[in-house]
Formats: sequence, C-alpha cells, structure tokens
Amino acid sequence: MLDNRPTLPPEIARRRTFAIISHPDAGKTTLTEKFLLFGGAIQMAGQVRAKGEARRTRSDFMKMEQERGISVSASAMSFDFRHYRFNLVDTPGHSDFSEDTYRTLTAVDAAIMVIDGAKGVESQTRKLFEVCRLRDLPILTFCNKMDRESRDTFEIIDEIQENLAIDVCPASWPIGMGREFIGAYDLLHDRLEIMDRADRNKVAESIAINGLDDPKLADHVPADLLQKFREEIEMARELLPAFNRQSFLEGHMTPIWFGSAINSFGVKELMDGMGEFGPEPQPQKAAERQISAEEEAVTGFVFKVQANMDPKHRDRVAFVRLASGHFERGMKLTHVRTKKPLAVSNPVLFLAADRELAEEAWAGDIIGIPNHGQLRIGDALTEGETLHFTGIPSFAPELLQGVRAGDPMKAKHLEKALMQFAEEGAAKVFKPMIGSGFIVGVVGALQFEVLASRIEQEYSLPVRFEPSQFTSARWVSGAKADVEKFINVNKGHIAYDHDGDVVYLTRLKWDIDRVERDHPELKLGATKEMM
Ligand code: GDP
Repeated sequence: MLDNRPTLPPEIARRRTFAIISHPDAGKTTLTEKFLLFGGAIQMAGQVRAKGEARRTRSDFMKMEQERGISVSASAMSFDFRHYRFNLVDTPGHSDFSEDTYRTLTAVDAAIMVIDGAKGVESQTRKLFEVCRLRDLPILTFCNKMDRESRDTFEIIDEIQENLAIDVCPASWPIGMGREFIGAYDLLHDRLEIMDRADRNKVAESIAINGLDDPKLADHVPADLLQKFREEIEMARELLPAFNRQSFLEGHMTPIWFGSAINSFGVKELMDGMGEFGPEPQPQKAAERQISAEEEAVTGFVFKVQANMDPKHRDRVAFVRLASGHFERGMKLTHVRTKKPLAVSNPVLFLAADRELAEEAWAGDIIGIPNHGQLRIGDALTEGETLHFTGIPSFAPELLQGVRAGDPMKAKHLEKALMQFAEEGAAKVFKPMIGSGFIVGVVGALQFEVLASRIEQEYSLPVRFEPSQFTSARWVSGAKADVEKFINVNKGHIAYDHDGDVVYLTRLKWDIDRVERDHPELKLGATKEMM
C-alpha cells in the first residue's frame, strides 16, 4: 500500500471499504449492528436481526441458515460515519463457505478482525487472517467481550503476535476485567473511556486525560485497578511496538482495541481508527495494467453474484466493486467479456438491510446490478477499455458428488438450476464427457445441503446427491493441440465446467501427480482465475 500517491478527490478519499472477519460467535453480528447504529443506518440495535428473521421465514433455505446460525450469503452495506463513507462488506462466517469469503476479500481494502477476549485466536480467525495476508490487507483488531472474564491482556496480544506473525500495537488498554471491567484508556488520543453497564446502547463517557500521571485518573478509576493499569501500561510501552501507519497499511502491524460490542463499548473508537488510519480506495490490478481510484473513467469488477435476494423479483444481483471513477445512474458501461454495452439503469446501494437505488457511486463503493445472468464473477465493466481484473480465483472443489433430479423428466430444469449456482460461484458444476448427469463440486459438505434445499425451493425440484466415483478435479490448460490429445486418451476422466473449460477428474491423488509427470506440456490447476 502506498502513502505517497496523488491526493484523491475528497469523495473518494473519504471512503473506507472493509470486511469484518471472525470465528463464529466472537461477535461479528453484534459489532456490525453497532456500526450501523452509529452510522445512522438503523435506529435501534436488534433491528438487523429482527429484519433478517422476518425475511428468513420466507424459505426453508433461509430457515436452515437461521437454525444453523450461519450466514451463507454475503452482502454489502454503506453508511456515513463522521465525514467518512463506510462500505462494510459482510463475509459468511462458516468455514464451508471459504471460497465466497475469499472473493469477498478481493473487494475490500481492509479488514477488522474480531476476537473473543476469553478465546483468543480461533481456527476460523486464523484461516481468514491468512486470506487477508495473501492480499496484504491492513487489519484492525477488536478484542470483544471484555465485560466477561477474559484472558490477560498481554497474553492475548502475545497470542496474536505468535499465532499470526504480526506486530500488535495496543490502540487502547482495558482497565479491569470481567465484572471489574470499567473501561479502557485510549492510548492514541489520551482519553479515558468509561463503560456504562446500565445502557447497552449508550456510548461510553469520554474523559480527556493529560497523560498517565494526570490526577484526574484517580477520580474515575479505583485505586487498585489504577495501580495495576499504570504498571501494565509501563510494561506495554517497553515491550510492544508503537503504532506505525505504514507498517499497518502494509499488513505487518495491527492496532488492537479492547471493548464490548454488546455494550457499545470501544466501537466508536474502532470506527474512528478505521476512518483515521484505514486505507483509502486502493489501486486494483488488471492483467493489462493497474487501475487507480482517481482515474476519471469508471471501471469495476464483479466479485459476487447472488440470485433471488428478493423473493418478489427472480433476478440476480451482481456485486461490483468500483475500482475507479465516478459512476452515475444510467451510465452505459462496456461488459468486457461479451464486449456488449450495458446500460446500468437500476443499480442498488445497500443501505443497512434495505436496497436503495444508487444515483451515484465512487471508486471504492460496492454497487449491486440486477441482471438476468449475463454478469458473472470476475467480469469487468469499463467505459470501453479492455481490462481483466486479476486475483479473483476459483478453487478446485474438495468434495465431489453426482446429482440427479428426483423427477427424471425435469433434467433440463436441473441443468438450469446448476448453471445458476455455478455462475453465482456457489458450486462447481462439471459435465462429464461420457455418460449423463452432472458432478457437483464444493469446498465444504454443508454446501450440498444448501444446494439441495435451494434447488427445491427456487426450482420446485427435489434432487438427490449421491457419491461420485471421483474425488478430485483439476483444470487442464496448455496448447490447444496438446489438450485435445490429452482429452482423447482420457475421455473417462474429462469433464467441462460451466464456462466450457476442460477439467480432469480422478479418484486418486497420485493420478494427478502421474499426469503432471507424464505431461509436462500441460498444467493441472487447482485454481482458475475468473476473468
Ligand atoms: P457472530 O457469530 O460472530 O456474528 O457473533 P454474535 O454477534 O452473534 O455474538 C455471539 C454471542 O455473543 C451473542 O449471544 C451475543 O449477544 C454475544 N456477545 C456479543 N458481543 C458481546 C459482548 O461484548 N459481551 C458479551 N458478554 N457478549 C457478547
């Protein structure tokens, strides 16, 4: 990340586009809700969930999501906080949806990592963190649930440093713990923040303090806690690095805030941190060149496609991250893959839980474009330039199953449903060269259930997944003649994905090694760039 870039136009410079990552239960939903509350996007805490539940009753698929307590689909929300515009992109929390999460993280410039103060770094935290690291995303850390018994502050910081190999700099320091927790000291602004336990939605009282020797501290902090707090701060200053914005922007250092999302404590400080230190819309990479946010021409890429978001409209919404320019409703853009013009007449911005028509948007924003299936993940939209954004991968599935329509007369419907999910990125769908039917590939087993449930709901089509003779899939690439030769002698192992690309299927891992050894002219890929 560069700090010495040309100054961005103010509308772009005020944008912060980020995701929140966490292990399930650490408090991501609660924190998101408080963000929306302080961003004025909702009036009352509890609204997001209440609304979500009202919607969820509409289909069994959604019910399943609710029962399992997972959020299957990501969405984006925009709101203002102070003079910043926040674009918060929601990531699905369950490990079975990691590919979706990965793609979501290609659309953001930063991430907030939420950890539970009693549990520290958990398995899913680590996985998601690694994905952020692949992209060198700057990360702000929020240590949540400080109102409960939690680990020692140094222990938490050490664990993050050691487990995730990143420098941790305390932005705030908690005072007391569990029942004795009274608040935190804001080390970046020399303020004391006192938590109000009586009113969960009330923002902490903030008291300006003139350094740690200020006698005012004793007016608010009980003597025993104050003593311990002073000692800890002294140690922290000796042992822990000071905040370095460049290092943070490069992804080497994470500032950490201690708080309690449910008590609205520490949340505004975290939001301030995102505004003050968080990255402006960053340059995006395309195969042809790098695109800077301040460029005048509008460019963007699709990182997610979601079908049937609104049961009343059987449309799909393509989520587009604007990489550059100032977008206005009604603009004609070029859909680079098909080279066709696309009049974007009804784009949506996602304000809290409701959709709203977007009259304009700037680089860094996420807009939704309703369409009938022409927009796919990885597609570029420009004002005419040919661009292929890179870094939006598709992963080889780790689980394969055959799928059959409960009613054989409805095989065509099944094909249509499967293609839709393939285009959404919800599953890989392979059509074997020999034989009938389809093979569906996913990253996590739960996805089969979700798919079966959605096909039944959205297409009134009961389906059966059954074991497949194959367990692994690899994309085959190479010179056309070489690939064709390979196909001809391996027909029983060949299938085509929904883009028509050649896939090698096998049940044995060593088969892949053998093909790689015997065919140095070919490449067997576990990922495919979507562009
Ligand atoms: P998610 O799974 O990460 O989205 O987590 P949720 O936001 O749904 O929170 C999980 C549980 O922790 C819920 O029961 C919350 O009410 C609770 N929770 C969230 N924040 C806090 C907090 O600051 N303190 C306490 N004690 N509980 C919290």
